[in-house]
Amino acid sequence: MVRARGVVKNFGAVPVLRGVDLDVHAGEVTCVIGPSGSGKSTLLRCLNHLEKIDAGEIEIDGRLIGYRRHRGRLHELKESAIARRRAEIGMVFQGFNLFPHMTVLDNLVEAPIAVRGRSRADAERTAAELLARVGLTGREQAYPRQLSGGQQQRIAIARALAVEPKLMLFDEPTSALDPELVGEVLAVMRDLAASGMTMVVVTHEMSFAKQVADTVVLLDDGEVVESGPPQRVLVDPEQPRTRAFLSRVQ
Ligand code: ATP
Ligand code: MG
Repeated sequence: MVRARGVVKNFGAVPVLRGVDLDVHAGEVTCVIGPSGSGKSTLLRCLNHLEKIDAGEIEIDGRLIGYRRHRGRLHELKESAIARRRAEIGMVFQGFNLFPHMTVLDNLVEAPIAVRGRSRADAERTAAELLARVGLTGREQAYPRQLSGGQQQRIAIARALAVEPKLMLFDEPTSALDPELVGEVLAVMRDLAASGMTMVVVTHEMSFAKQVADTVVLLDDGEVVESGPPQRVLVDPEQPRTRAFLSRVQ
């Protein structure tokens, strides 16, 4: 589903990703871990072309992201085509995911109507199903500020799912939450993983990574230091940099 090869991203003269390879198979969960500033968020933003990469290539579901190949050369896609492809990828950030001035229902139907051309009635039916799925049935008329942080993140997940993405990207979705609210968001993500969604999750929640990930990728200083099943990378790592990182967070 995701195939990244040799991804390089610089901010000015600062290299942030130094040739990252990543493979995520359909239906699998990949957790990306690593120190602050190692390039985790940048990698996610490159996957949906919120950032333009400087070298390498990224394919999502067999298609280049941001580019098309023509006679062996890459041509950047128009913004409208990029937006259509981006709509196939759901993204949930740390916070500030929802439109604060819109009700939960309007947050949930906006993209399906605008991006997918669904009818309002149809989008509202889906919204009710999604609310049930994240355990918030009946909260259509609430505004984001009337919900707890955990509830807001569950709505943010529902909103990302509303356009039926093929791939979900999560960037530390629980790290801004009070500790007692983390579990309810991770539970929704667990259910989503169990339903077969392909997911890339940047997280500091090592127990989530251990239990849910098919693959754990340790990023350090813009490089993949180690990747493999959680039982190996998190329990019995080969690389000294992985051990050093784990000893700091566990
Ligand atoms: P954290 O765990 O703190 O979220 P991260 O692994 O997600 O860190 P990134 O946010 O990807 O790290 O940042 C990687 C490096 O790139 C950092 O040194 C950061 O300062 C730099 N960086 C990120 N975005 C930009 C930007 N828009 N302009 C310039 N530098 C940036
Ligand atoms: Mg980050």
